Amino acid sequence: MNAEIIAVGSELLLGQIVNTNARFLSKQLADLGVNVFYHTVVGDNSDRLKSAIAIAQQRAELIIFTGGLGPTKDDLTKDTIAGQLGKKLVLDEEAMRSIEWYYEKTNRVMTENNRRQALVIEGSLILKNENGMAPGMFLTTADHKYMLLPGPPSEMEPMFLKYGQAAIAGVNGNQSRIESRVLRFFGIGEAALEAKIEDLIDQQSNPTIAPLAGDGEVTLRLTARSDANSNAEAMIDKMEAEIIARVGEFFYGYNETSLILELSKLLKSRDMTISAAESLTGGMFQQELTSVSGASNLFQAGIVCYSNEAKIELVNVRPEIIEKHGAVSKECAEELAVNISSIAKSDIGISFTGVAGPDSLEGHQAGTVFIGVHIKGQPVHVEHLRMSGSRTAIRSRSVKYGCQLIIN
Ligand code: ATP
Ligand code: MG
Repeated sequence: MNAEIIAVGSELLLGQIVNTNARFLSKQLADLGVNVFYHTVVGDNSDRLKSAIAIAQQRAELIIFTGGLGPTKDDLTKDTIAGQLGKKLVLDEEAMRSIEWYYEKTNRVMTENNRRQALVIEGSLILKNENGMAPGMFLTTADHKYMLLPGPPSEMEPMFLKYGQAAIAGVNGNQSRIESRVLRFFGIGEAALEAKIEDLIDQQSNPTIAPLAGDGEVTLRLTARSDANSNAEAMIDKMEAEIIARVGEFFYGYNETSLILELSKLLKSRDMTISAAESLTGGMFQQELTSVSGASNLFQAGIVCYSNEAKIELVNVRPEIIEKHGAVSKECAEELAVNISSIAKSDIGISFTGVAGPDSLEGHQAGTVFIGVHIKGQPVHVEHLRMSGSRTAIRSRSVKYGCQLIIN
């Protein structure tokens, strides 16, 4: 099944609000295995909404509207759709009762135009609004399915999750199950990752593979459909194994997670502690680690040693190391990582030194970064990276690289 989302509201066109409803619904529909082919935004204008509906009818089976279900004059979504489909608006008793109840609860007097909110398109399935007044609707005709949802995200999102999703899944056929799983990668660009699995992407049908890049990370969403004779989970497992065999070194986690979260889970499971000596990252690693709950059991201490003097005096880097190799060097990262773990008595010491830019330093270009990792009982490891991008991007990606180095 394919879908179009029509967001109604002049404030969207004026740039006063962002169309987060379309984003939310697209994400949810992808999980349901429904292909969203178009997003449309139209103002509170009956004629333009009519033509948007006519266009959508030609190219989508499922048309989802958000906004314009309220009581005011500019809320004309359901009148317009009803008119377009040649259907009447009828009073829904239950919606009426719940609006009255809503007014009693909030101790306000109901105005006449609020009754309009209890009018629904005849023959539609009513989607209850548990966070506001205007009910949603789901309507099936010979060629199309229509869903009408309220504009405020605080009403629309719970309504969709509780009632809308089930209505669509019912239409999709209950016997088919859809499973989806997100694989998260770091340390490889989107293009490079896609090149390694190009043949899988080209052949994809079930499961489908949807790549997405952002914040220096790449994710792949695998979505599989199954019927009585197949198992979606097993199909995803198989595809995942194929992908991991090729790019497993960059994989770090499933679904909603982050590198810092995965790092803290790992340290917790191994009962290990960590400390950090940070130069170019200026405390970002510590800041992120301590924002994860339970950090007190694993984070021992951190020193922000920005100047050379601080590296020498606070983290005991030997002056000759800096004289000979500079602060932006493998040798300095090594000493910082080893020394911070012994100063803080932690199992792991991590260090960040480099050039965040935009100017170069000690003859190194912006984006030159050394990350040291010292794990108790093992030789210290230093990763030399050359990154591009803004100062902020280089610093935040350094933190992510640091996590990745320990996780792998
Ligand atoms: P109400 O009963 O509040 O009038 P409604 O269903 O008539 O709800 P609108 O009047 O179109 O919806 O929008 C109400 C509010 O919902 C907007 O001011 C805006 O804050 C939010 N909203 C509407 N559409 C969107 C959208 N596409 N994305 C994000 N927020 C939206
Ligand atoms: Mg409104």
